[in-house]
Amino acid sequence: MTIRGIGLHSGEQGTVRFHPADGPVRFRVGSLELRPLASTVVDTTRCTVIGHQGLRLMTVEHLLAALHIRGIWEGLVIEVSGPEIPILDGSAQEWLAALQGFPASGPQPQPLSGTTRIEEGRSNVLAQPAGTFSLTTTVLFTHPKIGYQQVQCPPTRLEELAPARTFGFLSEVEAMRAKGLIKGASLDNALVFSEHDFANTPRMLHEPVWHKALDFLGDLYLAGRPYQGRFVVHRGSHRLHVELARLLQS
Ligand SMILES: [Zn+2]
Repeated sequence: MTIRGIGLHSGEQGTVRFHPADGPVRFRVGSLELRPLASTVVDTTRCTVIGHQGLRLMTVEHLLAALHIRGIWEGLVIEVSGPEIPILDGSAQEWLAALQGFPASGPQPQPLSGTTRIEEGRSNVLAQPAGTFSLTTTVLFTHPKIGYQQVQCPPTRLEELAPARTFGFLSEVEAMRAKGLIKGASLDNALVFSEHDFANTPRMLHEPVWHKALDFLGDLYLAGRPYQGRFVVHRGSHRLHVELARLLQS
């Protein structure tokens, strides 16, 4: 199966194909292979970018979130053409469906050995030992349609997060376009907020925080293996998420 689509930031067409293969999950671009690990992350400004020796692959987080949710850590090569993983509908739902035929694989979740807390301004990420995996995510925006939102998994199942889309604000579009970002963004691949309202229809009550939780799962996948513990993310960012994955990976 080939999945095609444009990249959110590059606006360029890309394709993704999944191939069963021995060894850890990895991307293949031309003749180069690249593992999704915190140590291969080269940028986290608006999306998570991995790269090596001139090769850059943007916006890997939603596909990685689907791999994390499905528990696929081995047995898969992801062949990619183009500079960016297609944004599709802005969520991880299509990736989750495309990975259905691949079995969960890889090491058992490793219990966290100690507490890790990372802070940046009013954002922070906490990881601490616990008997099971749990994830609490919050966001806080002044926008009247968002405000404070929280999601807790469980009881929300990780699969339920998959349809939550990338979100953005019309007020930021020009500034981001000027920086060369979101060339591929549209009302078809993001939940968009106008000054006081939604510019399109949300899929669920707290879609922004559900999407943030999904982004965290994608970035945490970069730790290279599953972890068992309690994760709490307040106003997370790719930078903070990846920093946690980096600490866990080492
Ligand atoms: Zn995202």
